[in-house]
Amino acid sequence: MKVLCILYDDPKGGMPSSYPVENLPKIEKYPDGQTLPTPKGIDFNPGELLGCVSGELGLRKFLEDAGHTLVVTNDKDAPGCVAEKELVDADVVISQPFFPFYLTKERIAMAKNLKMAITAGIGSDHVDLQAAMDNKIDVMEVTFCNSRSVAEHIVMMILSLVRDYHNQYRIINEGGWNIADAVQRSYDLEGMHVGTVAAGRIGLDALRKLKHFDVHMHYFDRHRLPESVEKELNLTFHDSVESMVAVCDVVTINCPLHPETENLFDDEMIGKMKKGAYIVNTARGKICNRDAIARALESGQLSGYAGDVWFPQPAPNDHVWRTMPNHGMTPHTSGTSLSAQARYAAGVREILECLFAGEDQRTEYTIVKDGALAGTGAHSYSEGSATSGSDQITFGSGPFQAIITTD
Ligand code: NAD
Repeated sequence: MKVLCILYDDPKGGMPSSYPVENLPKIEKYPDGQTLPTPKGIDFNPGELLGCVSGELGLRKFLEDAGHTLVVTNDKDAPGCVAEKELVDADVVISQPFFPFYLTKERIAMAKNLKMAITAGIGSDHVDLQAAMDNKIDVMEVTFCNSRSVAEHIVMMILSLVRDYHNQYRIINEGGWNIADAVQRSYDLEGMHVGTVAAGRIGLDALRKLKHFDVHMHYFDRHRLPESVEKELNLTFHDSVESMVAVCDVVTINCPLHPETENLFDDEMIGKMKKGAYIVNTARGKICNRDAIARALESGQLSGYAGDVWFPQPAPNDHVWRTMPNHGMTPHTSGTSLSAQARYAAGVREILECLFAGEDQRTEYTIVKDGALAGTGAHSYSEGSATSGSDQITFGSGPFQAIITTD
């Protein structure tokens, strides 16, 4: 089979010759008892860069030894790019949400041999799931591989926004020491009301981690958590996003992007939030309306916005979220720590081993199967597509970047 893998660029200075931490901690199971990926073997050292082009997700030896072809590229956006050309006869496409290859309806129509799209990570909204269903292309992701990595990032971002870390760090880097400047927007998180839109693997883990900060915790999800969990964490359940955001000082967004959640945080929803609240969105950029977020930061309706997800990705140089006031944005990194890469590379290999052997895939890894949402896909997504606008992409790098829109 031909496997096409779209990965992000190597480090500018080349692949590292060593890493800061020598051995990753051993983790056997996720909190709900799900096992970590169980491929028959791996050909990489956990802790090394795997998500970039030279890292190849550690797949080349495994695939070539078994007689398959692996094509790896980072050229993914312009019409006629390498990924589009190679897609034409690919059997499997692997892409990471951090540097997504938008598998639109038009691209799916080009891919006559395509059997499976694998997300090396979690969140398959870069695939037109409706087109995948219509064309009987299975969609898989490595469920849980980086959910806890993201939950750590959420806690980091909530604390850094509320305490105003970025401003204080900047003052020090600029050689300053004005403490009044450094604290005029700085608060304790303790006692605040924190709510999550969705309490799946990430949302629930973030709540568990936040419990220790003595905050009041709220959630909204289309699937209510068991009573025992609500009691354990002293959670307040809301039956709508509106009801929850009206009482929260901090809102974290943790649902997948699909037609029900696209543009959920628009001017109207943000207007229903407590004045001066904070949003942390590590779910998907398109769940928040780009310009509504910038407007709310300008007006003070929001005190801060942080996250690592943008639309499209890579984000254009002039994306307003790079320059709006009181933001704490990072590139899309929370789910691709070196620790997470080891898990999702192993998970992709497990999925490929099952595919080649004609064995059943794990239900929890399944998003689309045999033309319908299935497994985690049926639990967490809705039918339809959320890839529109993905043709507004930045090509090239540095000062010569341009946004090109195709019809
Ligand atoms: P999950 O499937 O465990 O949880 C998703 C939850 O969202 C489920 O509980 C589901 O019921 C809920 N949900 C779905 N639609 C909803 C709606 N309309 N309203 C309310 N709740 C809704 O997935 P997860 O591991 O928690 O990941 C969630 C999302 O986070 C992913 O789909 C992805 O978009 C994003 N993510 C981002 C990164 C990153 O690096 N930033 C990494 C992993 C995942």
